[in-house]
Amino acid sequence: MIIQLKNNISEDQKTKVLGILTEHLFKIKEVNTQVSDYLVAIGSREFDIRIIGNLEGVRDIHKVDDNYKLVSGKWKIKPTQIKLDDHSSIGSNGFSIMAGPCSIESGDQITRMVDFLIANEVKIMRGGVFKPRSSPYSFRGVGIDGLEKFYKICKENKIKIITEVMEPEQIDDMYEYVDIFHVGARNSQNFNLLDALGKVDKPVMIKRGLSGTIDELLYSAEYVFSGGNERIILCERGIRTYEKAYRNTFYINAIPILKEKSHLPVIIDPSHGTGSRSLIEPITLAGIMAGADGAILEIHETPEKAMSDGEQSLNFREATKLFYRIRKTYKFKKEI
Ligand code: PEP
Ligand code: MN
Repeated sequence: MIIQLKNNISEDQKTKVLGILTEHLFKIKEVNTQVSDYLVAIGSREFDIRIIGNLEGVRDIHKVDDNYKLVSGKWKIKPTQIKLDDHSSIGSNGFSIMAGPCSIESGDQITRMVDFLIANEVKIMRGGVFKPRSSPYSFRGVGIDGLEKFYKICKENKIKIITEVMEPEQIDDMYEYVDIFHVGARNSQNFNLLDALGKVDKPVMIKRGLSGTIDELLYSAEYVFSGGNERIILCERGIRTYEKAYRNTFYINAIPILKEKSHLPVIIDPSHGTGSRSLIEPITLAGIMAGADGAILEIHETPEKAMSDGEQSLNFREATKLFYRIRKTYKFKKEI
């Protein structure tokens, strides 16, 4: 059950609500986000919600029988839209494209990528500066100095950036230079990181874990929401299965399932979801038809020279073609 409190609820009114819930043996968690104050109450499904709904200081009450509550779609009429600024948002209206290299490599690379994105009307650039790599000998990113440069060039050109944060201690240093924090697949269940991102007033995109279930992804999102941050984006990036023909198995079902279960926007990552360049276009277009709100795509001017994930990065010519087809497919999807 989710109880949304009025902003001006008095201490006495709140004590009364808490008292009734305790009397009925509910476990209660108080959640204060940048948007509203809530009580999440876990307990009897038979409880008559009017007992609480009629009390003073209560704005609204919702019965949510899913195990995750605040990220469930059962209590929100409209899907959540995440505003980045007055001109751009993610979710519920339009298809967001986030594109850029797997890893930030140099200032020149950022400048050329930004020019390319502007020419293609893409408003969000991706790029990792802290890279989680399977081998400790692989390139691990340019770090915070690279991030500062990345942000500066993008800001001058009105491009938003999404970049991966790997641990809670990095958040403060990164904060000023990030528009969207990205939680990678390997950190999808790093609960300390998720708790810490709950305290941040910037959007957070959470990827599904390497072998995570849909429910586990939603629980991860619940950590961030119940920690205080409602601006969450879910990302399907494929999972590891027994199939060896490609890097990961992109799970197209995940898109309508997540949209059905949650009010949060769903972004697809066909680059990591497939691991190979030739599969990116068909999977992206299929993802649009399945209802995705956007895609995050790895692109590189010279993929064969990329410091990471070159085999799944599109070159500029391939990316331009894909952007064109994404827009055409999205328009078609809206018309049917
Ligand atoms: C990435 O986006 O570059 C990345 C490392 O992705 P994932 O966490 O999905 O493996
Ligand atoms: Mn990558």
